Amino acid sequence: MTTSTSPFTIERRMNELRFRTVSLVAREELAPDYVRVRLEGTDLEGFDSPGADDHMRLFFPTEIPDTIEELRAAPSREYTPLFWGDGWLEVEFAVHGDQGVAAPWAATAPMGARIGVGGPRGSAVLTGTPGSWMLVGDETAIPAIRRFAAQIGDAPARIVIEVRGSEDEITIDAPVAVEWLHRGDAPAGSALIAFLDSLQASDAVGEHPFVFIAAEQAIVKPGRALLERWGVDTAQAVVKGYWKRGEAEYHAPH
Ligand SMILES: Cc1cc2nc3c(=O)[nH]c(=O)nc-3n(C[C@H](O)[C@H](O)[C@H](O)COP(=O)(O)OP(=O)(O)OC[C@H]3O[C@@H](n4cnc5c(N)ncnc54)[C@H](O)[C@@H]3O)c2cc1C
Repeated sequence: MTTSTSPFTIERRMNELRFRTVSLVAREELAPDYVRVRLEGTDLEGFDSPGADDHMRLFFPTEIPDTIEELRAAPSREYTPLFWGDGWLEVEFAVHGDQGVAAPWAATAPMGARIGVGGPRGSAVLTGTPGSWMLVGDETAIPAIRRFAAQIGDAPARIVIEVRGSEDEITIDAPVAVEWLHRGDAPAGSALIAFLDSLQASDAVGEHPFVFIAAEQAIVKPGRALLERWGVDTAQAVVKGYWKRGEAEYHAPH
């Protein structure tokens, strides 16, 4: 186990829970099925997201209601705050066909469309300096991976991301080259699962790794098995299903 002398910890914090309304002001297509949107609104004053894999809840009402209770009753989905500042917030969405609520909104909503933002309610804040980094995910994990990648510095690291094909690769600001896996027409997650299963104890990226693995829910079992092979304490890692095949509005266990 690496915990006893670990150079980093993951601290859980609760944040003040606030609900905000924001408007869509820009959309950029970074890949055929991947968009970044910019949301703006005075409500965003004081918005913060201390943890790189934080999630907020985006609410998609047909019309912005008068009360928070009504807003909270609207369909909602979990997304990672990527960049934010005074009165603005950027979020990236994997677009998966026309199914669902959030992805079609991100791909097609008209400029000026309004949605709600709740949270992030809690954060897991990585404090200290991991000896090495292993960041693994599919398209939905790219925003969290971008945020973790900004903390890597000069430690040994691997970043492995599964997308459908080369046209889906996007530029990620990181100190190491991203290793892209292509699933082609195979089920989402299958290339990542094969990759994780192939890693042995001797493939550990370095000492005291911080491991982040997030993708379709089937990733959790091979992800946890890797932690075991590498002797990484689960409290020093994040292994999470970010969505579940065939299930709308999947709630990842926290
Ligand atoms: C902590 C956390 C952070 C997240 N951050 C992000 C983020 O920053 N960006 C992002 O894009 N996603 C992110 N996700 C994933 C996102 O919440 C889900 O993909 C969500 O289900 C999308 O909602 P929807 O309304 O588009 O589809 P839903 O209505 O939830 O689902 C409709 C159908 O589409 C399928 N589906 C859902 N997502 C996908 C997908 N990615 N690919 C293929 N099929 C899918 C479902 O299985 C279901 O059959 C995050 C999830 C978690 C738990």
